[in-house]
Formats: sequence, structure tokens, C-alpha cells
Amino acid sequence: MEQKKIAYQKQIPVRYKADIAVLGGGIAGLSAACAAAKRGKKVIIIEKMNCLGGNSTSGGVASFCGETRGQGEVFDEIILRLEEFGAIAEYQPYPEYSENFILSDKHEELFEQTKPRIFDFQYLISVFDQMASDYGIQSLFHTRVVDAIVREGTVRQVLLAGQSGLEACEADIFIDCTGEADAVFHAGFETMKGREHDNIQLPMSLMFFIRHISDVNQLKHIPERYVERIERKEDLPMNTIWPNGPSSNAVKVKIHGFDSTDSVSLTMAEQTGRKKMLQVLDYYQRVENRKWYFDHVSPIIGIREGRRVVGEYILTVSDIQAGRKFPDAIAKGVYFIDALSPLSDKREMIMKIEDSMVPPYQIPYRCLLVKDSVNMLAAGRCFSADQLAMSSARVFTTSSMTGQAAGIAAALALDKESSLRKVNVDQLQREIMKGKGQL
Ligand SMILES: Cc1cc2nc3c(=O)[nH]c(=O)nc-3n(C[C@H](O)[C@H](O)[C@H](O)COP(=O)(O)OP(=O)(O)OC[C@H]3O[C@@H](n4cnc5c(N)ncnc54)[C@H](O)[C@@H]3O)c2cc1C
Repeated sequence: MEQKKIAYQKQIPVRYKADIAVLGGGIAGLSAACAAAKRGKKVIIIEKMNCLGGNSTSGGVASFCGETRGQGEVFDEIILRLEEFGAIAEYQPYPEYSENFILSDKHEELFEQTKPRIFDFQYLISVFDQMASDYGIQSLFHTRVVDAIVREGTVRQVLLAGQSGLEACEADIFIDCTGEADAVFHAGFETMKGREHDNIQLPMSLMFFIRHISDVNQLKHIPERYVERIERKEDLPMNTIWPNGPSSNAVKVKIHGFDSTDSVSLTMAEQTGRKKMLQVLDYYQRVENRKWYFDHVSPIIGIREGRRVVGEYILTVSDIQAGRKFPDAIAKGVYFIDALSPLSDKREMIMKIEDSMVPPYQIPYRCLLVKDSVNMLAAGRCFSADQLAMSSARVFTTSSMTGQAAGIAAALALDKESSLRKVNVDQLQREIMKGKGQL
């Protein structure tokens, strides 16, 4: 049925002005903002949640996957600052690619093989606040980008819905790090979503946290109306138990079949996630007698994949399987193709596990350049890549690299009073490598 539409017009204040506006404050956004601010630019970062970090904080996803060295100046600083708190596991190199190396499909073994670095995300929230403040970045929380005003391919302002109501932000360059390509989409540039043939996205996962207790009497019984009880482990939705500091675990529960870009569907994903969380919790407490005290659930469900922008180049899964190099490389990925089937809540992969490992590959600057736009870049899990290429390149390490590259590129363009398309790529690469980023 045709939906009723209304026209709406209003004068709103252009309250914020910056050289560079970073939209979305996950690790990609923070990295973009720091890289640009360190180069003397006035930067604002606009974030819909109450803190920076995205999946790494609000989503409760507390492990850096892939290679954690050589990711560049911003990522190195994040690690250093977490180390100051003693809030990150020790460095372990990501395994070198070899065609004979088979990834394990058992979580514990996979974890051992690929050596992710667990961190304490509660400290990371403060680390990100402090980094933004140290570099003079204006952070704006509880504020969502909802539209954009564009003339001849140039974004003039983005429209924001925040605690003060509707306001606008003006900048010379906008970097979309929303993970959902929200800003690019609202600006009317081309985006893509999910699988090519039906747009179905990879599953989401909800993170919840438990504490181990010794006194069973402290455990709370989950009333019947909240949970369809599960008696056999094989009937549980896919769930993974992660380390989370002393006497505590994080539990990740797979939630499939929802669309992160649709308000109704995303609401259902959150509610379904919390229902499944109770099922999993109930099973472990009641059937396996685990003394798990329910501590808390993440304020947002973890979204692996939303919209991705269509850039000047779309990185493909064949590129990454071939370990392709590009003359305009700005980041390097090493992580395996991590694509859970979107069609079931069990641990099923889209691709055979033995085909998932990839050699080191490069990401070209063109993947950050939003097609047809004059002053927009995209970084993090919404840069221009196909679904399976992104399932590798979306990890925190590589997201930080693409974010950092976007921030440096934006600063270079403004320094030369030039355009994003004319950025001197040699200089961009030199800047990245000067900060110990490996390409
Ligand atoms: C369940 C799960 C487990 C994962 N496990 C790992 C792992 O173990 N290790 C690893 O390295 N990676 C992991 N990943 C991948 C990694 O979390 C992401 O790909 C990474 O978060 C990408 O960073 P980002 O900054 O691009 O996006 P995000 O972290 O999603 O950040 C986007 C930010 O933009 C904000 N935002 C969105 N829309 C708007 C808007 N319209 N206006 C303003 N702000 C907006 C969001 O609130 C968020 O803060 C996992 C992902 C998920 C979902």
C-alpha cells in the first residue's frame, strides 16, 4: 500500500561549523577525526550514542582481530593508552597466510589460531573521550545524522536530530563513518546493502555479560513467560563465550534475518536478541548448572553489516583472495573472510572454512571516495566493498586504518585547497607510513 507522505519545512540553526565533520564515532570515526585534528584541522565528530567507539564500546565487542601492529598512528595510540590501564591482552602476531593453513570451525581453537587481542571496553570509552579531548576534537553525542543538503555533488550541511532538536552542521569535508553509510544515503549518493541478489545482510549478534558467583541462591529464575526453554545444546542459537576480565564472561548470540537500516526491523532485532539472550542464559544456568549471574546486556545490538557506499572502486572478494595490491593503497587487510550464513541462527558459514584465509591485501583510496560526490569520504565498515570483502575488512584494525586514511586525505585536500579526488596519493601513503602504518 502506498504510504501517506507529508511535506515538512522548517528553519533550523547551523549551530556547528568545522573543516571536517566526521559522521559516526566508532573506531573508524575516531581514527579519522584524530588523524585530521593532529594535522591542525577543526574537527567535529557526530555520534548518535552517548560515547565514542561504536561496536567496540556500545556494542560490547571487546577484541581486536587481525594484525594489531602496523595499523598506523591512531591505532598504535589506542593500544598504548589501553596498555596504560593494563586493559588489553598482550600482542600476538596474526598467523601468516598459507594455503595449507585451515581455520578451525571450533570457536576456542579459532580464537587460539587467530590471536585476537581482548580489551576492557569500559576503559576504552574513557580512552576515546580523552583522545578526542587531547586533539581538540568537538564531540557531539546523542545526535544522529538524518539528512543532507547537497548542491551539485557538494554536501553543504548535514541535518542533525539531537537533544536540542533539529540543527545543522556545515563543513568543507564530510567523512561517513556511520557503519550504515547513513550520511551518504541521505545525501542521495549510491549505496549497496547485503547480498547482491537479495540485499540480505549478514547476521547481527547481541553481546551480554555474566558474572561467576559461588552462591546458587543468588541466581534469578527466569519466569516462564519470558523464555521458551531449550533443553539440548544443539537447539540453542549460535552463541560464543568470550573472556571478559576476572570472574566474568561475555556471551555473543547470533541474531539473523533483520535489516539494520530499517527502524521497525532493527527494533525487532533488538527485542529478538534479548529474548534469545534469556533462552541462552536459562539453558546454561538450568541445564548446565553454570553459576552465571546476569550482569548486563549491551545497549545496542552488534551490527556486522549495514549499507556500504558505492565508491570509485568496489573492493571485491576476488581482490582479497588474490592478495591484490593497488597503486593508491591506503590500508592493508589480513583477516579471514568471516561470513556467517544470514539464513539460520546456527553456526553456518557462507563459504567453506578452508577457503576463508586470505593473503595480505590492500585497500585503494578510491574505495573511500564516494562516487559522484565532491566532498565526501566513507571509512570503516561502510567503505566501498562487496559483502564478502567487507566481512574481512570490517575488523577494528582495518577500520581504524581506513578511518585514519580518510582523516589524513581530508586534511591534505584542505591544506592544498584542493579536492579529495586530487589528493596526492604518494604524500598520503608517506603520511600513513610515517605513522608506522604498513601498506
Ligand atoms: C557481533 C560482532 C562481533 C565482532 N567481532 C569482532 C572482533 O572480535 N574483532 C574485530 O576486530 N571486529 C569485530 N567485529 C567487527 C567490528 O566490530 C566492526 O566492523 C567495527 O565496529 C567497524 O567500525 P566502524 O567504526 O566502521 O563502525 P561502528 O563500530 O559500527 O561505528 C559506527 C558508529 O556510527 C554511529 N552512527 C551510526 N549511524 C549514525 C547516524 N546516523 N548519526 C550519527 N552516528 C551514527 C554508531 O552509533 C557507531 O558509534 C564484530 C562485529 C560485530 C557486530
